[in-house]
Amino acid sequence: MSASDIQQAVTKARTQICRWIPYLSGAVIEIPWRFDESLGDKIAAGTDGANVLVGTRFCGLPTAMATRVYLHQLVHVLYGHLEIRAGSTESDWNIAIDLAAERIVAAMVGLTPLAAADPHRGTLDRLIRRVQSDSIERIHVLLRTHPSMRERVAACPKDSPCPLGEGHRMPEPEALTSAEHEH
Ligand SMILES: [Zn+2]
Repeated sequence: MSASDIQQAVTKARTQICRWIPYLSGAVIEIPWRFDESLGDKIAAGTDGANVLVGTRFCGLPTAMATRVYLHQLVHVLYGHLEIRAGSTESDWNIAIDLAAERIVAAMVGLTPLAAADPHRGTLDRLIRRVQSDSIERIHVLLRTHPSMRERVAACPKDSPCPLGEGHRMPEPEALTSAEHEH
């Protein structure tokens, strides 16, 4: 896997988003991406709240799946998911933002061919319908008060390229500074 393989896989995913969800084209262009080796070989993509981070596994994914995984990260950045912190454990918060993001992604992909590529193989469908809200605080409360939700979270595939509650980290201070300089 070379730098041009990564570039090519990312370009394909970004092009697919622009093709099937044209209103996101501006976000695709404005939100930067970069390769992040620390994602390891299990997590295909992540985010630091400002950038989409792409790991080595991203290149091996079918285009539609890579597109869905990229889109998930884009949603986190667009909605400022990592900037909000409640009195929560980091792991609970990360699961709550993923359920919110997947709900938004499901609505965005709608009836496009991207709908068929689901990194969670249908295990999240009932869960994201049940939360009935994109509010992370509300989802967070539901997670704490409904043990059945937690069981469903635990049943999600661990080999997903976008594992529930993983791949998020806060931006490094330098990254924030350079982003401010650009604007
Ligand atoms: Zn996520």
